[in-house]
Amino acid sequence: MEKHYAERIVSVPRSFIREILKVSIDPEIISFAGGLPNKEYFPVKEIQAAAEKVFASVGADALQYSNSEGLIELRELIARRYHEKQGLDISPNSILITNGSQQGLDLLAKALLNEGDAVLIEEPGYLGAIQSLSLYRPRFCPVEVGTEGLDVAMLDRVSTASGAKLLYTVPNFQNPSGVTYSEATRRSVAEIAKKNDFLIVEDDPYGELRFAGKMKTPLYAYAPEKTVLLGSFSKVVAPGFRLGWLVAPEGLYGKLLVAKQAADLHTASVNQYIVSRFLTDNNLDDHISKIIDAYGGQCKAMVEAAHRWLPPQVTLWEPEGGMFLWGQLPAGMDAMELFDFAVREKVVYVPGAPFFTNGKGGSTFRLNFSCSGAAEIEEGMQRLARAFAAYAAS
Ligand code: PMP
Repeated sequence: MEKHYAERIVSVPRSFIREILKVSIDPEIISFAGGLPNKEYFPVKEIQAAAEKVFASVGADALQYSNSEGLIELRELIARRYHEKQGLDISPNSILITNGSQQGLDLLAKALLNEGDAVLIEEPGYLGAIQSLSLYRPRFCPVEVGTEGLDVAMLDRVSTASGAKLLYTVPNFQNPSGVTYSEATRRSVAEIAKKNDFLIVEDDPYGELRFAGKMKTPLYAYAPEKTVLLGSFSKVVAPGFRLGWLVAPEGLYGKLLVAKQAADLHTASVNQYIVSRFLTDNNLDDHISKIIDAYGGQCKAMVEAAHRWLPPQVTLWEPEGGMFLWGQLPAGMDAMELFDFAVREKVVYVPGAPFFTNGKGGSTFRLNFSCSGAAEIEEGMQRLARAFAAYAAS
């Protein structure tokens, strides 16, 4: 069979996280490995009511084919929210509804990347983006992420040397590091993009999940003509709808629309109608504040339990929002090797190495706090401490 495969698919591995998640099917395992929003906060009853209203009002139209750009009501709701929450003036006509922001990445890669084109990528970076872009066979040029966000001197150097076409970035509560770019970093990234002439892909699925600190200016505001903004309902409503969107400058929008038409004609009409109804009939801010309260408490519980139980040489980057906590093991320890001991103690996390495109990151790891209550976090950290002890003694 192998001889039939296209070259582009052969070199792209299956998602490492999806493989790890198979281990956590064992009900006795405490998993800090997932990246799922907590389903306790999915607005099931409100969605049910919205769906009933949709079928009673628009009926069969919700089940019909529709336009590729996406439902205009939904695009207007998104544009209004950008205006109210972030002071961004975005026309509904520059918004394209996608099957999650993950599809936005695929469409961008399709429309922009020739084989071998240089792509600037955060190191560590979001695995789903690395996988999605890899299918178009770019040359990844990693730029390090520190506690203030991208290393801008390195960004300048690497983008100049590589002639990169685009930068993929998650400036709020980054997956996997949880880092939020400082205001100074954001300004510099935008300036460097203008100077060195590359596009910024600003992926922001977590931006509204801020439980500490102050909101920062989107990169888009600093360089609207050079930025494609990706958004998603996955973390603030529910991922099962597979509803996201992108905001693109005019010329590129047309090309992305062609890619969208070719991929799937349009995003499911019925989902767009239901989520529009949900957003109109409910207060999204109230809903989000419940999620933030919960995640903020869970994050605090995890940081405290980690300090209580893990070796003091383990360092953690505390996020101001989102779903992830990033850690660094003591010198000489490898997160992939520790993982085997952790599985024996029935606790799992994600070793950091797969988030790097250059073989680095062996001592790093990612913890997810959105799906575990305080008691589970406490127990999980005690198990992890036992795994550390067993590893150190091995
Ligand atoms: N970007 C980032 C940074 C993510 O963490 C995720 C979800 N894990 C996505 C995109 C994909 O989100 P969606 O459900 O909107 O496709």
